[in-house]
Amino acid sequence: MNDPIYVTKPSLPNLEEFIPSLEKIWANKQLTNNGEFHKEFERHLADYLGVKFVSLFTNGMLALQVGMQALRITGEVITTPFTFVATPHAIHWNGCTPVFCDIEPESFTLDPAKVESLITPKTTAIMPVHVYGNPCQDKELRRIADTYGLKLFYDAAHAFGVRQHGVSICNYGDLSMLSFHATKTFNTFEGGALVTNDEAMKKRIDFLKNFGFANEVTVVAPGSNGKMDEFRAAFGLLQLKHINEEIAKRQKVAQRYREMLKDIPGIRIFRDIPGVQHNYSYFPVTVDERVYGISRDALYEKLKKENIFSRRYFYPLCSDFPSYRGLPSAAPANLPVAAKVAQEILCLPIYADLTCEEQDSVVKLVTS
Ligand SMILES: *Cc1c(COP(=O)(O)O)cnc(C)c1O
Repeated sequence: MNDPIYVTKPSLPNLEEFIPSLEKIWANKQLTNNGEFHKEFERHLADYLGVKFVSLFTNGMLALQVGMQALRITGEVITTPFTFVATPHAIHWNGCTPVFCDIEPESFTLDPAKVESLITPKTTAIMPVHVYGNPCQDKELRRIADTYGLKLFYDAAHAFGVRQHGVSICNYGDLSMLSFHATKTFNTFEGGALVTNDEAMKKRIDFLKNFGFANEVTVVAPGSNGKMDEFRAAFGLLQLKHINEEIAKRQKVAQRYREMLKDIPGIRIFRDIPGVQHNYSYFPVTVDERVYGISRDALYEKLKKENIFSRRYFYPLCSDFPSYRGLPSAAPANLPVAAKVAQEILCLPIYADLTCEEQDSVVKLVTS
């Protein structure tokens, strides 16, 4: 039996590279609360991403929760069922109700044509997801948000470094959230951020992620504790030095998959979207059982038997989990595209250090 191949594997810098940062932290003993590494990482990230302001968080989930507070989102929030559960969970934790809207069959992002019919007097926001780093239709969503006076808050957990026509897609919306979880293209073990181009908003977010403290004696709101510590800020700074190389290696893996899987009847692969600089976080394919001969689940099991762990991202749909399936918008009839994609989608292993031999063994099983 060959060594297991997982859907992803985190990249780490050389440990020796990290030691000098640790020595600095040990010497000055500032461990958290906006220390030197934290400040520097926020600045460098904003530069790298091509955005004005970044607020670091201890993880992406808290960034989502706090971002919703900062935007004062209440009532009903229109979102996609084809996402990681963190998206509807953040809505729920803010005492709001997720309203699930169907996705587009090409990019798997929120379908703007289906949003308006879901708006009610209680709707205050749209929370779309740049799933697999595929940019949402921001212009259309912006138009709808402006027309109805809604907030537009992007879950950009998959979109680190993604640009459209040269512009970081983290600039879209009133706010964007990033995740630096170990499984993401850019990781700080755990971590996350909110991105905004509004200085007053950045300030409000920074109060909210530190219990609402504006200064020693002023608490401006019931905040949370979402702060990133110095250890991970220092680590993130180091990771940032390697991110371009990381993405370039992933791109090579993706191109090789595309070449080798391009003519398999029933297996659909996805090309780069024109005008988009991708980050190759995932390599999704869809399996059309009638043409391919076996189902997506059968292919998933076939790979697993050979120690290759693909992932059915995202299956089940969030709207099918017990917490949400009772909602009227969770009815499968409301979500035909998402329901079909959830049955057919499979994410194949992709990471910077995936070797050609490992990739060949994945491809061999898909093609045989
Ligand atoms: C990873 C992820 C999150 C959550 O981020 P964490 O940093 O793990 O809390 C939220 N949304 C999506 C779409 C994700 O993939």
